[in-house]
Amino acid sequence: NADAALYHVKASGRNDFAVYGKEMGEERRKRHALETRLRKATAECDFELHYQPLVGGKDGEVIGYEALLRLSDEKGEPIPPSIFIPLAEELGLIDDIGRWVINTATQTMALCAKDRTLAINISTVQFQSGELINIVKDALRASGFPARHLELEITESLLLEDSTSVEMQIDTLKDMGIALAMDDFGTGFSSLSYLWKYGFDRLKIDRSFVTALEYHPDRSREIIETVVLLGSKLGMKITAEGVETAAQADLLSVLGCDVLQGYHFGLARPADVIAAHTLPDNIKAAG
Ligand code: C2E
Ligand code: MG
Ligand code: MG
Ligand code: MG
Repeated sequence: NADAALYHVKASGRNDFAVYGKEMGEERRKRHALETRLRKATAECDFELHYQPLVGGKDGEVIGYEALLRLSDEKGEPIPPSIFIPLAEELGLIDDIGRWVINTATQTMALCAKDRTLAINISTVQFQSGELINIVKDALRASGFPARHLELEITESLLLEDSTSVEMQIDTLKDMGIALAMDDFGTGFSSLSYLWKYGFDRLKIDRSFVTALEYHPDRSREIIETVVLLGSKLGMKITAEGVETAAQADLLSVLGCDVLQGYHFGLARPADVIAAHTLPDNIKAAG
C-alpha cells in the first residue's frame, strides 16, 4: 500500500522518488500477475476444492464438511482465499467461480457423503445477478445431493446491501430446505437486525473469540455464552470455528456449541481424502 511504501522510504532515509516509484511498480506488477492468474483459472476452472470436517460437539462425529476454495500461482504456491476472493468479486468473476464451487461440491458430496452436511461459502455479490437460485437448483438436480443437507454460509458484512431482492432469494433458498449460516459471527456490522430479518439457521462464532479463550478466558467465555443464548432464543444452532485444542473443544461443547470446526479435528483436505473416510469399503474397492 502506498502509505506503507512511503513510510518505508522515509524511514530508511532514502529521499529519491525512484525508490517510491519502484515499490509502487512492484505492487502493480503483483496485482496484475494475480489478476491474470485469476482470470485464467476462472476460464479453465483451474481451482481445487478442499473439505474441512464439521464435528458434533457432543460426540466428535464428523457430521459434514465445509468446502474451501483453493488456487495456486504459476509456481504451484497457494494464493490465500482472503486475497483472491475479494479480487474475484471486484473483477466480476465471483459468479462463475461460485457456480463452479457449487457444482463441484454438490457432485463430490453426492458421491462420497450424501448423508452429511455440505457447507458452501457464498459471497454476497452472488446475490446481485439474481442467478444464484437457479445455479443452486441446477446443481442439486444434476448431482442428486439433497437440499436439506446443504448449508450456505454468508458473512455478516456481505448483507449490508439491504434489498428486497436479497430477502426474496433468501426466502426461496429456505423454502427449498437449504440452511443458512452466518459466518464469522461477531466480526461484522448490523448483525442483530440481519439475524432477525433473514432467519438464519446457524451462527458460526468467529475464530477470534475461540482463540481469545486462551488469552482472555473470562471475557471470551462470556461472549460465547451470550452468543449461544442469543442463538437459542432465536432458534439458531451454533458452530465454533477455529478449534485448535482439546481444551477449547471440551469447553465449547459444554458452553452449547453443537458443531465444532478447526485444526484440532482436521484441516481442509482434498476430496479423495474425505472419500477414503466416508465411502463404504466395497465401493472403495470397486474404484
Ligand atoms: P471461512 O468461511 O470462515 O472459513 C474458515 C477459514 O478458517 C478457512 O480459511 C480455514 O482453512 C480456516 N480454519 C479452519 N480451522 C482453523 C483453525 O483451527 N485455525 C486457523 N487458524 N484457521 C482455521 P481459508 O480456506 O483460507 O478461507 C478463508 C475465507 O475465504 C473463508 O473463511 C471464506 O470466507 C472464504 N472462502 C473460502 N472458500 C470460498 C468459496 O468457495 N467462496 C467464497 N465466496 N468464499 C470462500
Ligand atoms: Mg465459511
Ligand atoms: Mg467462517
Ligand atoms: Mg472465519
